[in-house]
Amino acid sequence: MQLRFVGCGDAFGSGGRNNTCFHVTGSHVNFLIDCGATSLPALKRLGIAPDDIELILITHFHGDHFGGLPFLLLDAQFTRRTRPLLIAGPQGIETRLTQLMEALFEHSSKTRQKFELSVVALRPEEKRSFGAVDVTPYAVVHGESGGPFLGYRVEAEGRVIAYSADTEWTETLIPLGRDADLLVAEAYYYDRVVKNHLSLKTLEAHLTEIKPKRLVLTHMSDDMLGRLDTLDYMAARDGMIVEL
Ligand SMILES: [Zn+2]
Ligand SMILES: [Zn+2]
Repeated sequence: MQLRFVGCGDAFGSGGRNNTCFHVTGSHVNFLIDCGATSLPALKRLGIAPDDIELILITHFHGDHFGGLPFLLLDAQFTRRTRPLLIAGPQGIETRLTQLMEALFEHSSKTRQKFELSVVALRPEEKRSFGAVDVTPYAVVHGESGGPFLGYRVEAEGRVIAYSADTEWTETLIPLGRDADLLVAEAYYYDRVVKNHLSLKTLEAHLTEIKPKRLVLTHMSDDMLGRLDTLDYMAARDGMIVEL
């Protein structure tokens, strides 16, 4: 199994990076974690076929994590996709997706898809299985708008991938990431503590509790991107592959 960073940027295009989108593939799985606004062109640039993706997990409703869905669905309509697609995310996702589709492409939410499209709302700490992918969502803390906010612990093919999503420090990140084969964690700032986002120093202080087998930093601001050469941790870049 592998995870490829299709996009690991923030909402501001920091470092010219694409919005958040991770592509996970293995012998039995093909799914995305988040689908930010730039995801469709970023997938195509990497030669990833959107029509092969079976599952999309959405962490929250900010455009840099959620805004790519209308483009992907519109593209699927025109490429005559037949493979079923399941989109899962926080409570309210059905309504939020309809609103987003209508805002970007009027009447598109009423289009009858030629493929089976399911939209599923997830609740914190209720484990769900989608094909060969087991997903446990955890509530995270990311402000007043764009929620509810979920981080994910995903088990597939005997491996655990954990993703913090966008969040300030919260204790749920410990069970979310504990002993994970790969923890992808937001590191928005280096040591500045702000509301709604995680800084590397805060995360670092808790790593002995989380004990991930591997850690990759994502969703970095210019402050972090300017320190990439001096960091003790692996940092994501667009296109990067992590083998699991
Ligand atoms: Zn974000
Ligand atoms: Zn966000």
